[in-house]
Amino acid sequence: MIQKVLLAEPRGFCAGVEMAIKALTWMVQTFEAPVYCFHEIVHNRDVVRSFEDAGVVFVDSMENVPVGAAVMLSAHGSAPDVVADAGDRAAVLVDAVCPLVTKVHHEVRRMADKGFDIIYVGHEGHDEAVGTIAEAPQAITLIDPENGLGDYQPDNPGRVALVSQTTLGLFEFEGVLDAAAERFPELWTARKSDLCYATTNRQRAIQELAGRSDVVLVVGSENSSNTQALVRVAKAGGAKAYRIDGPGAIDQTWLEGAEVVGLTAGASAPDQLVFQVVEALEPVNGVEVVQVTQEGEYFPLPPDLRRLLAALQAAVEGGLTAQRPGLEGRLENDRSWKADEALALLSTEADQALNPLRPRL
Ligand code: SF4
Repeated sequence: MIQKVLLAEPRGFCAGVEMAIKALTWMVQTFEAPVYCFHEIVHNRDVVRSFEDAGVVFVDSMENVPVGAAVMLSAHGSAPDVVADAGDRAAVLVDAVCPLVTKVHHEVRRMADKGFDIIYVGHEGHDEAVGTIAEAPQAITLIDPENGLGDYQPDNPGRVALVSQTTLGLFEFEGVLDAAAERFPELWTARKSDLCYATTNRQRAIQELAGRSDVVLVVGSENSSNTQALVRVAKAGGAKAYRIDGPGAIDQTWLEGAEVVGLTAGASAPDQLVFQVVEALEPVNGVEVVQVTQEGEYFPLPPDLRRLLAALQAAVEGGLTAQRPGLEGRLENDRSWKADEALALLSTEADQALNPLRPRL
């Protein structure tokens, strides 16, 4: 019988995932279905399914997006040719890339322009790795942390840079970093590592739990890199650790003889799933939150989306609604709406700006 659940804090949604989910929600609310999204908006099965139910079509190639569609690019960051292709096809394009991934894209471009050979520590085929490598494929060598540096040979050992995927396991990243620094004493790296704050904080929290738990459960999807890293970090801390999609995925044999269960969630897993897992575990003595730090990070919505929504808001407030509840709107009546009326509306708007108390048309 489970006596207690140790609940990691921080866990679950990071600022990048918060931003991306809210951005796609705005797109769904603003445009008629289907809205197209290049790659899963975040790597979580439940989140993706919710958006599919709301009319989002996820694609892995821009060829599957019809010209004139509303398109969003995922939080993992997209290759430059994908962004360009999307810009050509989409009537409206919003890039929901996390700013911390954008920072790594900038580093890659800058160091490649300076003629550096770049070691990219990451997982082959992961959406984030694919998008980042595409910034300068001629200069980058992908090093999987599991394989290590191996016999990597740059053209010029005095001009080597090391960057990484944002969601790796801390100890794995450091293994490659230490080996590279020893082999190339003039190695360039970002002042702070490319591992993002959310990755680092969630891993610190699970390190704290691992030693106190008989079993650790990590809620998150199989293709979520930071979720998989949390499982590896918990195992490295000596715990039996398992990834689960949700409460239905718990194998009861894992819990045999266990009294204390550590629980956390990857950066793209909704907290609702975590609470469902707690319910399923039915801990006799309840839940103890194990907090290692407080997170206050917030990433604003993508600038393109903010501009679009601000324009729509202005149109609505200016009386340019396409439809009003129970009434026809100006868009449908465009044939009968005269240019004189449009100009009159503009002058009313100008008056309104000078005298906000004047009633609108
Ligand atoms: S895990 Fe880190 S890099 Fe990825 S979306 Fe969240 S904050 Fe951004």
